[in-house]
Amino acid sequence: MKLLVTGGAGYVGSVCSTILIERGHDVTILDNLSTGNRDAVPAQARFIEGEVATDASTVLGEGGFDAVIHFAARSLVGESVEKPEEYWRDNVGATLALLEAMRTHGVKNLVFSSTAATYGEPDEVPITETHPTAPTNPYGATKLAIDHAIRSYCVAHDFGATSLRYFNVAGAYGQVGENRVIETHLIPIILQVALGHREKISIYGDDWPTPDGTCIRDYIHIVDLAEAHILALESNKPGTHRIFNLGSGDGYSVKEVVDTCRKVTGHEIPAEIAPRRAGDPAQLIASCEKAIKELGWNPERTDLSTIVADAWEFTKNLGDKAHSAKA
Ligand code: UDP
Repeated sequence: MKLLVTGGAGYVGSVCSTILIERGHDVTILDNLSTGNRDAVPAQARFIEGEVATDASTVLGEGGFDAVIHFAARSLVGESVEKPEEYWRDNVGATLALLEAMRTHGVKNLVFSSTAATYGEPDEVPITETHPTAPTNPYGATKLAIDHAIRSYCVAHDFGATSLRYFNVAGAYGQVGENRVIETHLIPIILQVALGHREKISIYGDDWPTPDGTCIRDYIHIVDLAEAHILALESNKPGTHRIFNLGSGDGYSVKEVVDTCRKVTGHEIPAEIAPRRAGDPAQLIASCEKAIKELGWNPERTDLSTIVADAWEFTKNLGDKAHSAKA
């Protein structure tokens, strides 16, 4: 397929683009490099530096595109609380422009990066797709608004689309992985401590209502996540909007993640208990039954040690390219 991939210079977008190219797809990446890395763009992809809001229409207007995978977004929860206007503009505003560009140019197959943050504080775990959506921050609210917009384009304009609700994505695919200028995610931060680029990991609260007092999350390997995108792309049907949760189905506490990283890396990794982080739910665990049953998804890298080992291999080999080394 000839694909437009927005945000293909970011972590998830670059891994998915790499795998799509290996499977024979023709990939054009549109990314403004606000948070992505130019050197994460696969060599065989065509790269356009630009804005989804203004440039997607021009790109799709060239013709011949079969589908769009839309990764480009602002995705920091804390930042979304402080600057909601930027999240509504860059997430919702840009996606509305993308949907219109797709409609104008007759490209109606879409895979969208949604998030577990659309559910908010869960009533129960594991979280199924029928769980009520009540996001607790603007990031989750903007992604949920986009899910609704996409659904109405499917109904009214015959789009075939899938929203994939990611839980905690981690791991790497060989030399493609997480290397952000501003890192806030648990596993990459712990690995930066192991590398000596940070002194210690701060554990955000040990008084949560969980067995060891630290927050529980569901970590999904980036390669399993990428496979789900390909399955969605290949099975989208006009007039239909599907939503799937993507996780491993297992929850690990922050302390368990730190311990796993210690084992995998062989480094001590000093940790301290810090205050809770605003907006964190105590526990997020996905039910992946729907994706397994209806999408034919078969996640194969669900073991946390495998996820951390792949992330560690990538992080160790970054060398001078590591943003954390320059911090
Ligand atoms: N976390 C932590 N210390 C950090 C970063 C994250 O204790 O330096 C915790 C965070 O409170 C959450 C879990 O690790 O419970 C995963 O956080 P992350 O930011 O990786 O993903 P999120 O769950 O926010 O999407």
